[in-house]
Amino acid sequence: MSTVTITAGHSNTDPGAVNGNVTEAEITTDMRNIVAYCLKDLGIDAITDGKGSDNQSLRQAIKLIKKGNVAIEFHCNAFHLPTAGGVEALAQPKDKAICQKLCEAVSDVMGIPVRGSAGGFKPENSGQHSRLGYVRNGGIILELFFISNPTELATYQAKKWPLAREIADVIAQHVGVGCTG
Ligand SMILES: [Zn+2]
Repeated sequence: MSTVTITAGHSNTDPGAVNGNVTEAEITTDMRNIVAYCLKDLGIDAITDGKGSDNQSLRQAIKLIKKGNVAIEFHCNAFHLPTAGGVEALAQPKDKAICQKLCEAVSDVMGIPVRGSAGGFKPENSGQHSRLGYVRNGGIILELFFISNPTELATYQAKKWPLAREIADVIAQHVGVGCTG
């Protein structure tokens, strides 16, 4: 059986970005759980950094990267202007292709732009990101959307299940399981 690592950005003690009463850590934990559920349906075991509302530390998540055929951690972007939006993925060049497929899937389901000129792929030294231990250790950081953008946040809340299914499909195809299409 194929095994993949799916982790939630931030942790039980670090909420990440916040918009009103919604925290990035809650969103990423939720998405981790739903994607893991969808993967199980496809016959893929997901190693996670916790079950239910548990969202273990980045240190713990990094230890899980090498246990999966691929490792993905969910995050949300944030910006001081509420109009900033879109999806992007940070990774090493070896993961460029799956990053582009993940970004395309998120863009299709949510109707939001793919950021940048490389299909959403960004190398680890780009931008003002400060959590790249995950990438340095071989994982992918998928910045799903901008939590600071109220339209994108509402779209996420309405579409998180179909979004998770599409993300799980991309992962399944990457590890050679499931349908194409
Ligand atoms: Zn984050």
